Amino acid sequence: MPVSPDYRPEPAFFDLGPGFGDAVRPAAFPETRLRFRNHRAAASVGLDALSEAEWIAHFGRFEPLPGQPGPIAMRYHGHQFRAYNPDLGDGRGFLAAQMRETPRAQAASDRVASGSAQSGRLMDLGTKGSGTTPWSRAGDGRLTLKGGVREVLAAAMLEARGVPTSRALSLIETGEALERGDEPSPARSAVLVRLQHSHVRFGTFQRAAFFGRADQVETLVEHVRALYHPAVAPGDAPGLLAAIVDASARLTARWIAAGFVHGVLNTDNLNVTGESFDYGPWRFLPGYDPGFTAAYFDHSGLYAFARQPEAVFWNLTQLAGCLKLVAEAEPLTEALNGFGPAYIRELRAAFLERLGVKSLGEASDQRLLDATLALLREGDEALGWEPVFHDWFTGFSSSARALAGPRARLYQGETFDAFRFALFEHGPDRPERLEHPVFAGPPEDLLIDEVEAIWAAIDASDDWGPFEAKLDRIETLRQARG
Ligand code: AMP
Ligand code: MG
Ligand code: MG
Repeated sequence: MPVSPDYRPEPAFFDLGPGFGDAVRPAAFPETRLRFRNHRAAASVGLDALSEAEWIAHFGRFEPLPGQPGPIAMRYHGHQFRAYNPDLGDGRGFLAAQMRETPRAQAASDRVASGSAQSGRLMDLGTKGSGTTPWSRAGDGRLTLKGGVREVLAAAMLEARGVPTSRALSLIETGEALERGDEPSPARSAVLVRLQHSHVRFGTFQRAAFFGRADQVETLVEHVRALYHPAVAPGDAPGLLAAIVDASARLTARWIAAGFVHGVLNTDNLNVTGESFDYGPWRFLPGYDPGFTAAYFDHSGLYAFARQPEAVFWNLTQLAGCLKLVAEAEPLTEALNGFGPAYIRELRAAFLERLGVKSLGEASDQRLLDATLALLREGDEALGWEPVFHDWFTGFSSSARALAGPRARLYQGETFDAFRFALFEHGPDRPERLEHPVFAGPPEDLLIDEVEAIWAAIDASDDWGPFEAKLDRIETLRQARG
């Protein structure tokens, strides 16, 4: 038996029938070289016992796992940079399998308040770069190895930072030479498999609504409600929207506290569980910069760092519009209006968690949030984003305060005093955290220069050492959290 008793297949999206996806065939790759295998993620769905040959058969050649019907490309539309595109859909990926998370894995993650604790969350295996589909348009259906490496790194770092995120399960290099305009050609190819709590996107609803299919919207509402938001009553589309609004607000707040810019917040890149996915041109902030933009093609800065809440909210309004086919406008509007309060609440919680202190109630939590943001703003010139957090755990290095220079000035100034005052009010959880080895070294970040250096080592000499070393350090960071 290649899978453990913990493996529990449940291909629920496949069972929705032909209106929502199309059976597809994976590409036949000339090579399949395993480059990354996420043992912890695999164990969370009972797939840790696979041999390397079995792993490659399932995640490089896509022989269906037990109990899975075979790959389907999911249908969806979406707004890309606010322009509606009815020609989207899985163009270089497919849904490969669905299974339950082990209850133990769910308890350990405790990230998304959905799915019952007893059954474990329903997880998808989704691919990127697995070949062409009916939705490929002019594309080749492929993923560059560099793109795969970038997605693995982003997902790992976001998980470590407490962001609800898809996880990279597998990365296999596939031996093709890809033509890409924006990169040195030819580029190396790869196929990625991600483990994700639903690939049902806002754009999945948009496609059904675009064709006026109230029946399909209703089917999706019930599918998403029952599987991902079971606390919502059957038939309560505004209640479902409210749950998705909450989850999306939480996700957005956690991106902000992580200093993350997703880069492409189109409606096909947001899902119904508020789990972040599809890491293309993402960036982490070097320092506090509201206008920081990740995607080189985002000329207007639509998806800049501090505009992410606005972008997510706009996308939610589009989802609400689809639900008008099955619900009244007024309760939907009310659900949408929950976004602002939920976002602020979640932002306080996210920053408190990053600082490792407990909530003292709204007013003093808000004071701490304001003081932290002020310090980050001012610390940008002196320090950068991650060092401000790191310095808190290491006691604002009293030695640095004694010296001259911008860092010392920051720690002698009023903004820092206000921050420290707000922190002291919340009481120090710091000492126990300080003992963790991760705080002995320099702050761990994932800025673009390091990502490029990791890639350069792989591309020039197949040196995967820096990539693996980085994942090890990120894992230490993850373990240090909470
Ligand atoms: P994204 O903006 O990366 O989420 O992708 C938008 C759409 O383009 C999705 O429908 C993708 O499946 C499709 N797509 C992106 N890259 C390719 C490719 N190389 N070949 C085919 N389709 C692609
Ligand atoms: Mg996408
Ligand atoms: Mg993409």
